[in-house]
Amino acid sequence: MHVTDERYKRDRLRLELALRLIRHEARTHTIRHWTGLSDDRVRKLYRSYIKPGAGVRRHRGKSPAQVNYFLRATSLGAEAHALASILLLFGAISDKPDPASLKKIPTIARGRLLCDAYEAYRRVSPRPRIDFEHAAFLAKALTVGDEIRLRFCPACQALNIVEIVTLRDPECRACEAPMPEKSTANRGSARPLSSRT
Ligand SMILES: [Zn+2]
Repeated sequence: MHVTDERYKRDRLRLELALRLIRHEARTHTIRHWTGLSDDRVRKLYRSYIKPGAGVRRHRGKSPAQVNYFLRATSLGAEAHALASILLLFGAISDKPDPASLKKIPTIARGRLLCDAYEAYRRVSPRPRIDFEHAAFLAKALTVGDEIRLRFCPACQALNIVEIVTLRDPECRACEAPMPEKSTANRGSARPLSSRT
């Protein structure tokens, strides 16, 4: 493929992703982060493609930053767990924290996976209440892994979002079995003993 073709394809993917993010009412700085487009380009896209009265709102202010939102013992917490499963299923996140991947993998590809997963969540959830900004924050928090992580229940295999710093072992949301952290191989950036030199 010619360089110009490559560039054209990349630009088109970038614009497609930006429009998907606009439709999901992502904040301007979120769209800039995932697409690399300038704030000015994003504003122009809004004006060109989103008709007034189309029901797409522009949100201002800071993106969410509180992981407690996902840990509530309410139906919202259950929805966050369903969303985490879908993010994992679509490959938008891994089941282990991987902070280095935030820099390694092309942002546009990651942004598309995130949109795929979020759109699937909207389709399967009868009344979806988690907005895109919270979904993006959940994916990021689970990838960084310093506050919350995924853990499979040893008793029923259900996927749980657990807090890293707790005084006692978290309980499975599905069966209430305690879920102790298994081994050092699962801890943070620790590698399996065999790969150490
Ligand atoms: Zn369980």
